Amino acid sequence: MEHTSFLAISKSAYSNNIRFIKSQIGDNVTISSVIKGNAYGHGIENIVKIAENVGIRHFSAFSTDEAIRAKNSSKKNSQIMVMGMVENENLPYLIDNGISFYCFEMDRLEAAIKKSKELGIKAKIHIEVETGFHRTGFEWDEKEELLASLEENSDHLQLCGLCTHYAGAESVANYVRIQNQIKQYHKFKDWFNSKGVHFDRYHTACSAASLSYPETIMDMVRIGIAQYGFWPSQETYMFKFKQLAPNKKNPLRRLISWKSQVMSLKKIKIGDFIGYGNSYMASRDMLIAQVPVGYCHGFGRSLSNLGKVLIHGKVLSVVGNVTMNTISVDVTDLKEVNKGDEVVIIGRQKRNEITVASFGESTQQVNYELLTRLPHDIPRKIVT
Ligand SMILES: *Cc1c(COP(=O)(O)O)cnc(C)c1O
Repeated sequence: MEHTSFLAISKSAYSNNIRFIKSQIGDNVTISSVIKGNAYGHGIENIVKIAENVGIRHFSAFSTDEAIRAKNSSKKNSQIMVMGMVENENLPYLIDNGISFYCFEMDRLEAAIKKSKELGIKAKIHIEVETGFHRTGFEWDEKEELLASLEENSDHLQLCGLCTHYAGAESVANYVRIQNQIKQYHKFKDWFNSKGVHFDRYHTACSAASLSYPETIMDMVRIGIAQYGFWPSQETYMFKFKQLAPNKKNPLRRLISWKSQVMSLKKIKIGDFIGYGNSYMASRDMLIAQVPVGYCHGFGRSLSNLGKVLIHGKVLSVVGNVTMNTISVDVTDLKEVNKGDEVVIIGRQKRNEITVASFGESTQQVNYELLTRLPHDIPRKIVT
């Protein structure tokens, strides 16, 4: 291994999670695997490969660059959808490659129609409607203009979906807002249907909505965080908890673990200071392991004297300041420890686990942010 650490991505955990999600949404609902943010830090190429192996054939990207990566790594001719940023100049690539994309404003819709006419290929579009998230989406009072354009250009458009996104389905604090969004979505849907306009798929639900608001599950769900083995929030888990069988209280398994190894060992004397400055003074004779992971790899300086890692299945403390490339770990209490021994920074080792959440400070959506911030240049390896 030339790199000082690697991220293991477990394919058996992935198939376990898809099995659980299917048990929740039913077998007839398409799962779109959300791979934005470099597949929540797991690597788009890895996730497309693992997901296709368990039968996933639909992927959701945020932007054109991600869609290109998904397309290039797909071996099963899966459908790819872009939910966010597309420059009009990228539309020919998307249309030519059969990649579908959201239209949430007239400008993009008109550009799509124009390109479709030039290429002689239908543009595959999803109409996103504004239901209360207030990020993107056609407004209710734009519907007549939108309808006219869809009808007039039906030869140039494939209406793949009618969609919206919920403003925080992972928290009961947003309950009323979500209910209003569901109502508003159905108002749009019924209105289009009453005008004779139908879409291939109706899709609104992310992970949290799929788990907490079953009424939002329609033809397709867009699953991000749950496929990677994380609950959207503690609340979503608590909501489900009672319904889970006693022997299946932990139905989601994390895919990712972050591993390194002991680089070197050093004995120090009581009263010695460890590393830069004087933030840690040895209160006994100690054995310290150097682990070649530092803040340049995403192990934040804020974890100085606070972070934990696993060696031989034991939870051990980071002592002294995190440096750019290394941490010092107190291994005094291990029976035996050697250069090259595995160090788990995130994940499981024997009977202990360091979770992504415990790795960072507990902000509200810490899992999403921490995962996507894992440095892109740490190699990802698919494991069983
Ligand atoms: C990110 C995203 C999702 C997936 O959300 P999760 O909470 O990770 O399941 C679904 N739809 C849209 C539009 C998104 O941006």
